[in-house]
Amino acid sequence: MALVVEKYGGTSVGDANRINAVADRIVAARGRGDDLVVVVSAMSGETNRLTSLAHEVSDHPPARELDVLLSTGEQVTIALLSMALNAKGCKARSYTGTQVRIRTDSVHGKARIVDIDDARVRSVLADGYTVVVAGFQGVDEHQNITTLGRGGSDTTAVAMAAALGADECRIFSDVDGVYTADPRVVPDARRLDRITVEEMLELASSGTKVLQIRSVEFAGKYRVPLRVLSSFEEGPGTLITYEESSMEKPMISGIAYHSDEAKLTIRGVPDEPGVAYQILGPISDAHINVDIILQNVSAEDGTANVTFTVHKNDYQKALAILHETAERLGATEVVGDDKIAKVAVVGVGMRSHAGIASKMFGSLAAEGINIQMISTSEIKISVVVEDKYMELAVRTLHKAFGLDSA
Ligand code: ASP
Ligand code: MG
Repeated sequence: MALVVEKYGGTSVGDANRINAVADRIVAARGRGDDLVVVVSAMSGETNRLTSLAHEVSDHPPARELDVLLSTGEQVTIALLSMALNAKGCKARSYTGTQVRIRTDSVHGKARIVDIDDARVRSVLADGYTVVVAGFQGVDEHQNITTLGRGGSDTTAVAMAAALGADECRIFSDVDGVYTADPRVVPDARRLDRITVEEMLELASSGTKVLQIRSVEFAGKYRVPLRVLSSFEEGPGTLITYEESSMEKPMISGIAYHSDEAKLTIRGVPDEPGVAYQILGPISDAHINVDIILQNVSAEDGTANVTFTVHKNDYQKALAILHETAERLGATEVVGDDKIAKVAVVGVGMRSHAGIASKMFGSLAAEGINIQMISTSEIKISVVVEDKYMELAVRTLHKAFGLDSA
């Protein structure tokens, strides 16, 4: 008999019919003899609806109160799903994050799980119940309700699976797995049967929104057997693996993209120790995350240019800070560009294959796509291009690396 944690996302529980369909799946799994802990999201659109409601009564809703409000979305779903299960003759009980004692830190809106009291869940399972848990929420040491950040139910599910030592954690959504690229951009994209946790992390941080990135980090840390699959159709989904299989690895597993970043350049700064710190220090003091950073080789006159990217939401703020810095350092110019996109190729096969970068740059050049910035990790190469070329770049690379379905 297996212990399985299943998580159903917002669209999978989007209305009463969908909740009944999920209940049918759970009844079937119980029929096969599995013990089940089911984590659910709020019904689709609900978290957004509650967020807008908050902003109708307050320009700056206190983070604590926002968490009290947003956590109700998941509370609705657990109650409805438990009712549906009981109506189908399957004993089920629902629990909020507070009741299960999913303990988190006190950072409202993006709390981190510190501990889960698995004893409660185990005893309810032992009594023959299916346990239905509200995703995305927890409780801090002062009994305040917290939430884990958008998409946080994935992390609840993985954390539950880790705490219980579950045999598998299955994340159900409206996509049937992880693809070689976004099928909306690349119609020939293929579902991957398996992907390593490192590749999954790189894809998630490069714009592929199948799982909340923190859930993948959590899974990696505790080696949770994790599978991503669809609640709308049958299929094996994609298994996240922790070891590279001995089979011949494809060089590249997937292409990711996003256009959430903007680029800032400061020109003509003195090329001397401490300058990068003087430029990026004030940016980080303003809690702005920087992604790619580039400094050119110093020019004849002993000055350099520094370019970096930030999230578009932080663009104006970063630009203002950089102008102040430029004044202080006597820089010649500050320029910004928010019409950029980042496209990345990801694959553990990169470790053992040479020539990936040149193949990538060559195929982009053949399409006349100019590369503005390049950054690499052990298993990823990212380029920044003008945003209007983003989709063309993704399709070009998908084809160049032989990922198109035959
Ligand atoms: N309901 C939350 C959200 O929409 C959490 C989740 O669905 O995972 O982000
Ligand atoms: Mg989600």
